[in-house]
Amino acid sequence: MQTDNKKRIRTEKKELKEKIQRETLKRLYHKSEEEKATAIANKSGLSYIDLSMIPINAETVNSIPEEDALKANLAVVHKVGKKFQIAVVDPENYETKKLLEKLKKEGGINYSLVVVSMDGLKRAWSNYNFETVTEVFESQEMSLKKEDLTDFEKGINNIIELKKRISEIHTTEIFNIIIAGAIKTKSSDVHIEAGFDYIRLRYRIDGVLQDITKLPKKTHRIILSRVKMLSKMKLNVNDIPQDGHFDINLENTTINVRSSVLPSNFGESIVLRILCENSIKIQLDELGFNQYYLEKVEEQISKPTGMILTTGPTGSGKTTTLYSFVHRLNQPSIKIITLENPIEYRIDGVSQTEVGKEDGLSFIDGLKAVVRQDPDIIMVGEVRDPETAEIAMQAALTGHMVLSTLHTNDAAGAIPRLLHLKVDKHLISPAINVIIAQRLIRKLCEHCREEYFPAQETVKKIKNILSEIPKNDEIKTPDDIKVLYRSKGCSKCNFIGYSGRIGIFEIFTMTPNVEKIILGNISSSGILNAARQDGMISMQEDGILKALSGSTSLEEVIRVTGEIFKKK
Ligand SMILES: [Zn+2]
Repeated sequence: MQTDNKKRIRTEKKELKEKIQRETLKRLYHKSEEEKATAIANKSGLSYIDLSMIPINAETVNSIPEEDALKANLAVVHKVGKKFQIAVVDPENYETKKLLEKLKKEGGINYSLVVVSMDGLKRAWSNYNFETVTEVFESQEMSLKKEDLTDFEKGINNIIELKKRISEIHTTEIFNIIIAGAIKTKSSDVHIEAGFDYIRLRYRIDGVLQDITKLPKKTHRIILSRVKMLSKMKLNVNDIPQDGHFDINLENTTINVRSSVLPSNFGESIVLRILCENSIKIQLDELGFNQYYLEKVEEQISKPTGMILTTGPTGSGKTTTLYSFVHRLNQPSIKIITLENPIEYRIDGVSQTEVGKEDGLSFIDGLKAVVRQDPDIIMVGEVRDPETAEIAMQAALTGHMVLSTLHTNDAAGAIPRLLHLKVDKHLISPAINVIIAQRLIRKLCEHCREEYFPAQETVKKIKNILSEIPKNDEIKTPDDIKVLYRSKGCSKCNFIGYSGRIGIFEIFTMTPNVEKIILGNISSSGILNAARQDGMISMQEDGILKALSGSTSLEEVIRVTGEIFKKK
């Protein structure tokens, strides 16, 4: 084992050294090429430009047929109407002069010349055929310029306009538009799937996949190789799943994209997850807690020790909720350490550790190390095995605040889950402050929301549900239901009718009633009944109250929580 490791490290060192040598040579070569071009420019009284420093628009390059440009050693690098800026290697070259003359006479083109290196010219030419663009995008970062986005935003306000734009755009630019469109529509994922004779493009917006458009089949290869290059995937491998990541640099922020490629019948499918920092920087009072729950949560997270658990399936917003707690608690006098897999967002003033990577720190070892660091607050990505559960419980009982998630459907279900993870039932109530179960529902677009009169049957169902809400002075339930809300869809919400999401919650605290049940004969329904007697309203009830207030629609609550019916 040891020798294998040493051998591996030696090979890696050797590879790295060779890579550095190659790159140094490449740089030196590049430098002398560019110096030659500068000399030619000086001699002929023209300006020199380094084409490796400036982005070139593929459409611009395509203003002259590839064959002609290659033969004449030139490329169009900038254009406004019939005014071209043309890059040449040697202004005195016979073929160059011949084509320039032809452009002027036959095409009525008014041009100016700049001198570039052969290397630079090749970069410009690579826009003719995407397959040779490899060098340009060799880096793992993709530069989607601020201007591209602003330009895009001017023309595109919603999906309809995006569809139109995509059909007009040059194929080499399609990928930029797809990404810009995803950022503009605040999509979390981009799905690009190959069909028999077309490519299907879908965005996940507020948790729901939306059909964007169908693209011609020929674009698939272009988009696929761009994704693979940016993500450092193997270009020539197409029969196994691959994943990677890349960054998009905007002016003030970097957007991380996690990419995955999966073989399918008609070519590889691509999924891009867009990680936007703004979506995680949600304040506690923006998560969607009703006043009663908000006060409960604030009370629980201001305790110095104990465990706070959020539960729900993947995509239910439980991690976002924990992050908002971390933001609220984050101050210089408090030491916060997180264990994450992977780290998706950086938070100033918080030590974040990545665990669970191959060859990296394991979850358990990471957690043990964190506890030794004596933090005030520990955030652990997920309690998923008995050992993590034990360390986390012990930390919560010995003067730390522990924040984590658990994979259960509802709040009461967290107790049987913990027992299944071999947690001692006597420790549950002393260690746990609060368990929050949640789902995300879409908010009705405020610009196109309207009232409507629901059917009597619907009103009856809602009233039944409301009658079951635990008597609680702090939760107001309406006596009569006159209207509900829905939306028509408008340009502000991409004609979806919804914009943004909030949580619906179930908040479970350790009351004496609940504790008695946990220590006695434990059953999920027993725990639930005890919690409801102490005022816990369910996620669906929380959702229905939000529908009655117009934050969302009844359909959305049903979509997320299931059909509404009386529980007894
Ligand atoms: Zn709208």
